[in-house]
Amino acid sequence: MRNLSLLLLFLSITIATSALPAQDSTTPELDGRDGRELLLKNFRPQSKLKVKQTNLQRAKFPVVDVHTHFRHRFRHSPEQLDAYVALMDRNNIAACVSLDGQLGDDFREHAAYLWTKYPNRFLIFANIDWQGDGTENDPATWACHRDNFAERTVERLVEAKQLGASGLKVFKQLGLGYRNPDGSLIEIDDQRWDPIWKACGDLGLPVIIHTADPAAFFDDINEKNERWEELHRHPEWSFPADKFPSREHLLAARNRVIERHPKTAFIGAHVANNSEDLATVSEWLAAYPNLYVGFASRIGELGRQPYTARRFFLEHADRILFTTDGPWPETRVRLYWRFLETFDEYFPYAENEFPPQGFWNIYGIGLPDDVLQKIYHENAARLIPGLAGKLGSVISVEPQP
Ligand SMILES: [Zn+2]
Repeated sequence: MRNLSLLLLFLSITIATSALPAQDSTTPELDGRDGRELLLKNFRPQSKLKVKQTNLQRAKFPVVDVHTHFRHRFRHSPEQLDAYVALMDRNNIAACVSLDGQLGDDFREHAAYLWTKYPNRFLIFANIDWQGDGTENDPATWACHRDNFAERTVERLVEAKQLGASGLKVFKQLGLGYRNPDGSLIEIDDQRWDPIWKACGDLGLPVIIHTADPAAFFDDINEKNERWEELHRHPEWSFPADKFPSREHLLAARNRVIERHPKTAFIGAHVANNSEDLATVSEWLAAYPNLYVGFASRIGELGRQPYTARRFFLEHADRILFTTDGPWPETRVRLYWRFLETFDEYFPYAENEFPPQGFWNIYGIGLPDDVLQKIYHENAARLIPGLAGKLGSVISVEPQP
């Protein structure tokens, strides 16, 4: 054990020194001062614009956040949950949908965490257990490659629904991570999973699916990449063409699943992961009446194309769900109100001093009240089983047909 920690110490020193630019302690950091060059990681431009600042403290109408991660982000901490419910109250968030339900006893544990104290403030989506008792790095041992995996998963989803699940969340590893016994990536539209998608329609469970990732993550990491700074910090978020299928391949496979299961509602997470190209997302929404989209962690993308984004929200007001990918710090949550409700110009899309997802600021899209109400809660109340009942006294909504 001691040898191991010495080795790790040695390795971290080696890594630390090799990662540093060749300079000794007398060389000043490239901070842009006194005629020195400036490293991108040190760039902190402060806008000199004097424009209206509408720092909204709460949403104009009650909100349902359909994309949150209360298991992954809070690790079942009761204190953090209490603090977040207080934040929800301050911000007019009536309910959150946790996408971290899993199945069976894990679902029960997550439900007890959220529902014991706050039965009407949370909904839970289940997840598929692709790996089961298999070994992580040996895909041949994974449960999903055994006979009748889809049928067994359907049974577990029936149970999850009895336990109170309101939907199914599919993570981006389907397409980018889960593998076949021969080492190839599992295709999203592999027909083995069709019974699962069909059952979700039969059970009335919407499927929120995260497919692929931002366009720049599939490009080479070079000086032309608009997410260079982020990919330089997180090279593991890059999906280079020599190792991964293209984004177009993944999104087309997902769309074939949506097309093959018209009675199942699909929610394309992160603007169906094509927020850089809203015209194409519009075509998908026209082609697939069972497709909805959330825009979690994409106000940075939408807010840099405010004219196009506003038209998109007005045109598809019945098909867009409010989502954040939180729980986030309150500063970031409030930026969602500012983006959706105001015409403020050139403001940050996150609380971080340094932009986390691209080097730009955003503009508000000033949505009208009727559209805000649809996006904030009406669409969700129609789509997500159990929600209308939970909202009950808070919001008057039409219950599920
Ligand atoms: Zn998420």
